[in-house]
Amino acid sequence: MGLIVQKYGGSSVADAEGMKRVAARIVATKKAGHQVVVVVSAMGDTTDELIDLANAVTPIPQGRELDMLLTAGERISMALLAMAINNLGFEALSFTGSQAGVITDSVHGKARIIDVTPGRIREAIDAGSIAIVAGFQGISQDTKDITTLGRGGSDTTAVALAAALDADVCEIYTDVDGVFSADPRAVPAARKLKTVTYEEMLELAAAGAKVLHLRCVEYARRFNLPIHVRSSFSPNEGTWVVENHPEGDTMEQAIISGVAHDKSEAKITIVGVPDRTGVAARIFQSIADNDINIDMIVQNVSAAATGLTDISFTLPKSEGQKATQVLQRIQGEIGFASILFDDTIGKLSLVGAGMRSHPGVTATFFAAMADAGVNIEMISTSEIRISIIVREADLERGAKAAHTAFGLDADQIEAVVYGGTGR
Ligand code: ADP
Ligand code: ASP
Ligand code: MG
Repeated sequence: MGLIVQKYGGSSVADAEGMKRVAARIVATKKAGHQVVVVVSAMGDTTDELIDLANAVTPIPQGRELDMLLTAGERISMALLAMAINNLGFEALSFTGSQAGVITDSVHGKARIIDVTPGRIREAIDAGSIAIVAGFQGISQDTKDITTLGRGGSDTTAVALAAALDADVCEIYTDVDGVFSADPRAVPAARKLKTVTYEEMLELAAAGAKVLHLRCVEYARRFNLPIHVRSSFSPNEGTWVVENHPEGDTMEQAIISGVAHDKSEAKITIVGVPDRTGVAARIFQSIADNDINIDMIVQNVSAAATGLTDISFTLPKSEGQKATQVLQRIQGEIGFASILFDDTIGKLSLVGAGMRSHPGVTATFFAAMADAGVNIEMISTSEIRISIIVREADLERGAKAAHTAFGLDADQIEAVVYGGTGR
């Protein structure tokens, strides 16, 4: 007998039928003799709909109230799922994040888990029940307010609970058969990966492959907890996220493991910045002081005649307005000319540990973009990733071209998208 944590995403529980299908799957795991803890997301696109509703009553919803609103989505799911399991003759008890002991910091909208004290969950499963936990939420240690972990955060709830309960495995059930070499919604020729390392998955998640939440991968790596990503709509074996690829698994040792694309970022360009020591520090300190995460940065060489330079950086689209306001406040003090905001960019990334030992990856990548007529606006690299910024309209074409250029296309279409709207 083992302890299994299963997480079901929104598309898996989009309607009553989905709830019943998932309930049957959970009961089957219980019947096989395991203790089962389930983390569930809000139904379908509920979270997006709640955000739309908040924006319809105010342009800038307060973080505390927005978190209170959004966590309602997962509460609906957890109670319905518990009922559906009860209906199959099994005992299930639902718990909010706070009841499950998910303790976070107090940053609304992107809280970090500080501690997990799952006493009530342990009690419930030891008494023979199936515990159902609302994903994506916790309670702040300081303010005692309800927090959310950021979009896609139910994955992190599941892994954090699995680590705290010392589970044997954390299964992430979604609407595709596992982690693919690219998002199957954009690249139909994507291949399913049998295994992916924590290191590669971290880069893929950071590059926008939303199949797993970035923090969930960080957590799993820290606790060396295996994650099995698979579909709730099929019995197929999925993808294992592990420390190392198994020996001799040559397919997985391809130079490039995957291509990721991301439409969620925007670009800000600060035009005519005086080229003085300390100016960049002042700009990025004020951005950081406002809890805005930035991604890529490019600073041009200043023109000798003017001593002025341009600085561009990318950030989540949702933080664009706040960042622009912050910069406007320091414009007089720093003396730059203007701020340009562009939210029609896309980020395309190549990820693969094989990149370390193979020269020429960048050349092949850029040649593929040139052949596809995709212009590169910004570039950034890590040891096992190359990311570029392109026009949003060119993004999916670029992703397909890169996938083909690195020989990743499947011979026959194997990627099935079972549900979800891709929103
Ligand atoms: P859930 O609601 O189950 O959490 P998500 O929508 O958050 O599901 O994540 C699953 C989606 O991630 C897939 O439907 C797919 O479109 C997208 N995705 C992006 N990159 C990848 C990838 N490399 N492999 C698999 N899915 C990916
Ligand atoms: N319901 C939340 C979201 O849509 C959390 C999750 O699904 O993981 O982002
Ligand atoms: Mg998700």
